[in-house]
Amino acid sequence: MKPKVAFFDFASCEGCQLAVLNCEDVLLDILGLVDIVEFREAMSETAPRFDVAFIEGSINREQDAERLRDIRARSTYLVAMGACACIGNVQARSNFIAPAENFQRVYGVEDRNRVQTDPEFWPLWAHTRVRAVHEIVPVDFELRGCPLVPEEFVHLVKSLVTGAIPRFSTQAVCVECKMLENECVYDQGETCMGQITRGGCKAICITNGYRCDGCRGVLPHANLTAHHGLLKSKGLSEPQITNRYRLFCSAESLGRVGRTGHDK
Ligand code: SF4
Ligand code: SF4
Ligand code: SF4
Repeated sequence: MKPKVAFFDFASCEGCQLAVLNCEDVLLDILGLVDIVEFREAMSETAPRFDVAFIEGSINREQDAERLRDIRARSTYLVAMGACACIGNVQARSNFIAPAENFQRVYGVEDRNRVQTDPEFWPLWAHTRVRAVHEIVPVDFELRGCPLVPEEFVHLVKSLVTGAIPRFSTQAVCVECKMLENECVYDQGETCMGQITRGGCKAICITNGYRCDGCRGVLPHANLTAHHGLLKSKGLSEPQITNRYRLFCSAESLGRVGRTGHDK
């Protein structure tokens, strides 16, 4: 019997699911290996149990956490898919700002007051904080990046189907960037997160003329002291450095530098 695979989205742009659907050249092969039993982007059916559940998006409300726990209980393997699910992504930056200020920034003073006093909006107002999937349930595999790398998705599915152990890069983006012989952005007066960021994306942003902003999260063995010192020596202030570390990684320890309340 083919493994049952399901996709679920939480707070996300659905870009990772689209990246999966865009694996056109291999999608038909994958469909031959698995039964996709739930995938809101592509179908309306639902199923009671799954061999593999792919989770896209960060978890922002308690009702989402409950839904996630239910999915976990019905899944053999659970995969966090993309930066939102793996490390909180940009939406987790809201954890550092009081909800009232967030609403004021987005909707203006008048609507902030309305949201604060109208019970209909309280579920929004009373949202706790943005969390990565692993902060709520055990995660078996991660597909890092914003969006995920299609080749890594295909590799993971094939590994799970064949019983092989999936292998992902343990090197920094910087290593891939050097192997591609890109000109280092530091030589152009820019700064970069590539030295401390998990590889696997083939340094795609630098190859296409930008820098690495660290969407795949921080390598466990990264030399953060050296990287912090480097950014400082290039003229970045402490708030600017904190912002760079928090951009994608607010739910990881590095992004929590200087944070109060939820530092643990
Ligand atoms: S990781 Fe990026 S592409 Fe994927 S759902 Fe989140 S915001 Fe969208
Ligand atoms: S551009 Fe970034 S990733 Fe590439 S070599 Fe320089 S520091 Fe490393
Ligand atoms: S180069 Fe950096 S920002 Fe770009 S995809 Fe890779 S990890 Fe993400």
